[in-house]
Amino acid sequence: MKIYKVDSAENICCPFCDKVVLSNESESEPEECQHTLLIATDEGVEYHADHFDIEELEEKTEELSWDEAISAVDNPKAVLIKTYAPAPSSFGAYYLFEG
Ligand SMILES: [Zn+2]
Repeated sequence: MKIYKVDSAENICCPFCDKVVLSNESESEPEECQHTLLIATDEGVEYHADHFDIEELEEKTEELSWDEAISAVDNPKAVLIKTYAPAPSSFGAYYLFEG
């Protein structure tokens, strides 16, 4: 799995179809595309595709942070984009895509 870190001020775009999944304009809601497997933050899941095994991931977050659990997803075709809000919050958001 490829993992990219993107500045939290940037748009989040699908690496496969270039759709803007999260615009950096204020108050915008995520809009998933057909490649989106998962949208999650440090507080939990915002969206997941029907075929994505969310229960396995949630089990892992009992011991790991969301960041660690999502980074450990074993899917060679997937691309993970991470963003972190500026310190001191450093709040993380995670966007997982599969081509
Ligand atoms: Zn896409």
